[in-house]
Amino acid sequence: MSIQEASDLWQQGAACRGPNQMIFFPPPRLERRSDKRRREQRAKEICGSCAVQGPCLEYAMGIREQHGIWGGLTENERREVANAANGC
Ligand code: SF4
Repeated sequence: MSIQEASDLWQQGAACRGPNQMIFFPPPRLERRSDKRRREQRAKEICGSCAVQGPCLEYAMGIREQHGIWGGLTENERREVANAANGC
């Protein structure tokens, strides 16, 4: 199985598929801090009930995804995890 096929498989179980997708990424316009906090909290709640949270986070960390919430972590939180793992 190729990496792409493995990725496609876990993405089929993603709880964020469909209309909820929008809240996992910042909007194109400026976002107020309070709106961002609410949006991220809602996305994290969905991630918390997602059957593929582990593979999703592993994928995002593996490709160093720079944008959005993946596996229940924001981009900044993923960066902190990566830095901690690298001893930074
Ligand atoms: S963990 Fe979150 S971002 Fe990842 S697939 Fe599930 S709902 Fe989507």
